[in-house]
Amino acid sequence: MQNGIELSKDIFIYNTGYCLNDIKNALPNQKSKKIKFNSKIIYIKNSKLKNVLIDTGYSNYINELDNIKVKIHNFITPINLIKFDFFKLKPDIIILSHFHIDHIGGLFNYKKIPIICSKEAYLNCLNSRGFNKLKTGFIKELLPSDFDQRVIFIEDLKKVKPFFGFDKVYEYKEFKFINLEGHAKGQYGVVYKDLFYVADAYWQKENLIYNMMPRKLTKIIHDNYEEYEKTLNKLHNIYIKNKYKMVATHD
Ligand SMILES: [Zn+2]
Repeated sequence: MQNGIELSKDIFIYNTGYCLNDIKNALPNQKSKKIKFNSKIIYIKNSKLKNVLIDTGYSNYINELDNIKVKIHNFITPINLIKFDFFKLKPDIIILSHFHIDHIGGLFNYKKIPIICSKEAYLNCLNSRGFNKLKTGFIKELLPSDFDQRVIFIEDLKKVKPFFGFDKVYEYKEFKFINLEGHAKGQYGVVYKDLFYVADAYWQKENLIYNMMPRKLTKIIHDNYEEYEKTLNKLHNIYIKNKYKMVATHD
């Protein structure tokens, strides 16, 4: 994708990097072909929360870490960074959809500002053991040491009425946080005006348009494949109503 897409006059989408992956993993009806799975971030200007960054993408902090999970990630799907000046963005607050490395990789670029994220996701990353721990994909070293002082947990915000069949919905200023179960425990999408950022609740636009589940083989990397299917189904129903501009991290 071209970098710095203006979704509307105060909402921008940037790409921080990509991995090459078989399209068949996202769209099982397609012929095998390596495509880019982008790692996008969203920047919103002038909201009531001032400037807001949603997710932080890949950054060179990841490759500088001497970490076995990074090595495994780079062995299976090497991370390709896109030259991106994180410092041109001046967020006053950061929202994290979940804790996979392609969402928290650039967190270090932004000091001291508050971080909104899910308590369920965070505790799951900290407390999982064995294979479940590996499955969280969590690398604690990517979180700043003052994370606990900066965090605002979504589940401590005001709970509001369900949103198109999604029950766990919270609100802060003009932002809604929607629990999108299935991909990662405690993953939250973000609704702001007519933007609905769904993070990894689908991978490619065709998954959303045709309500098409990713390849069964990918079951192992999702927290709960059955819940993923229910979430995708609800998102597809929102998509056909054509009320929101839906954006996923990797499409
Ligand atoms: Zn993810």
